[in-house]
Amino acid sequence: MADDRREELEALLKLQRDAFTASRPESMAMRKDRIKRAMSLLKEHAENLCKAMSADFGNRAIEQSMLTDIAGTVGAGKHALKNMDKWAKPDKRPVQFPLALLGAKAEVRYEPKGVIGILSPWNFPVNLAFSPLMQVLAAGNRAMIKPSEFTERTSLLMAELVEEYFTSDEVAVVTGGPEVAAAFSSLPFDHLVFTGSTETGRRVMQAAAENLVPVTLELGGKSPVIMGRSADFEKAGERIALGKMMNAGQICLSPDYMIVPEDKQDEAVAGVSNGVSNMYPTLLDNDDYASIVSDRHFERLQGLVEDAREKGAEVIEVNPGNEDFSNANQRKMPLNIIKNVNDDMKVMQEEIFGPVLPVMTYKAVDQAVDYVNEHDRPLGLYYFGDEKAEQERVLSRTISGGVTTNDVIFHVSMEDLPFGGVGPSGMGSYHAVEGFREFSHARAVYQQPKIDVAKLGGFKPPYGKGTRKAAAGMMK
Ligand code: NAD
Repeated sequence: MADDRREELEALLKLQRDAFTASRPESMAMRKDRIKRAMSLLKEHAENLCKAMSADFGNRAIEQSMLTDIAGTVGAGKHALKNMDKWAKPDKRPVQFPLALLGAKAEVRYEPKGVIGILSPWNFPVNLAFSPLMQVLAAGNRAMIKPSEFTERTSLLMAELVEEYFTSDEVAVVTGGPEVAAAFSSLPFDHLVFTGSTETGRRVMQAAAENLVPVTLELGGKSPVIMGRSADFEKAGERIALGKMMNAGQICLSPDYMIVPEDKQDEAVAGVSNGVSNMYPTLLDNDDYASIVSDRHFERLQGLVEDAREKGAEVIEVNPGNEDFSNANQRKMPLNIIKNVNDDMKVMQEEIFGPVLPVMTYKAVDQAVDYVNEHDRPLGLYYFGDEKAEQERVLSRTISGGVTTNDVIFHVSMEDLPFGGVGPSGMGSYHAVEGFREFSHARAVYQQPKIDVAKLGGFKPPYGKGTRKAAAGMMK
């Protein structure tokens, strides 16, 4: 990357950090004003942002973008506005006996960290840049955003709009490809939030480590659906179909694969197929169904299906309108349900991120639990069924970033729940009070009373009997 781009990024960071330092302490009203401006930006330019996203994808329903990228993100701002006074309150903490009697006081103050970098992906290009931003601003920080190069029109529009609604020392958008992204992730931010693939996340963390920049990594993975024998397969199928087909499966929390009771496989597959057909009677000229974002991603998905077929899997194409996809040239892909899969197939090795749904079977539900535990810890885990004991067994014996039962994805839309991964699916979380805390520094503040506490505690030389007595007392 040209050196002048790096210098530009460094200068922007310095501008923001200087402004941050000079303006402290900043009022809550100022923080709220910034959040309100971010919300206005989204509301006033909603239609254009949705059109840009649709153009970037090839096709993406304006209504879907309104929900997932505009309304959902404005919702995050509303939630922050409503709760941030409570979140920001210092937290009084007890001190050891008898210090309180002597007038000592302890508290945790949640203070802004400074300038926070936000690196975001293409799949929800507005949401994944602006919804962390709401919490970054609520916690009193400045922000530099580097959105994805795959959704270039949206990124350029976001840059233009942010310039209109914010001064560049408050919030700024930097655009560019992977080289700019790499340079961005190597800046000495006060915190860096990265949303994207596990592979890039590894590189981002390495770059951040050079400057000991703390990171929040919102990554991907293979989120399993475990179907209990007691599940309502028709209803479950409909819900899985909705989660798998929305954004054409290009969702970090999309159900990646299903594990179903051996004797219920046909019912489970029929449930999903019917769900797809009911919602999408056709796919090609149906604006409700999104395209795959790029030729590279489209080919990768076709490759996953071919690899599975070659290795002995059975592929069921769910093509409700019997359309011919071969010459469609729209990067639209029907759902491919894949039976008889195993771990030698790529489709069971990498995150799918598209309309491909492998189905595995089990005899006893513990086999499903074991399978999940033998693989990377997923971002989401879904259980369908009515048996509470079985549900608890599945939940208490697995680990995942989050869980939705009897549906998929929905836990992310609960504003008061933290959202994040675990292990290879990420670290740290945002949304709710956890997000506010993630972008704040929990500063310990202790107020010493007038009395000589050091002497009283035996800390003061010359050491002797008093010191030994104090140490013994502490261990009682
Ligand atoms: P990606 O990792 O390819 O790119 C994400 C961002 O990283 C982009 O802005 C890109 O410019 C930047 N980048 C690229 N190379 C980089 C480098 N060397 N150093 C630093 N940054 C670099 O991800 P993607 O393809 O845009 O998004 C899809 C992935 O994101 C999936 O794995 C999905 O699961 C994950 N995802 C996770 C969440 C979540 O909240 N956990 C949400 C959406 C997507």
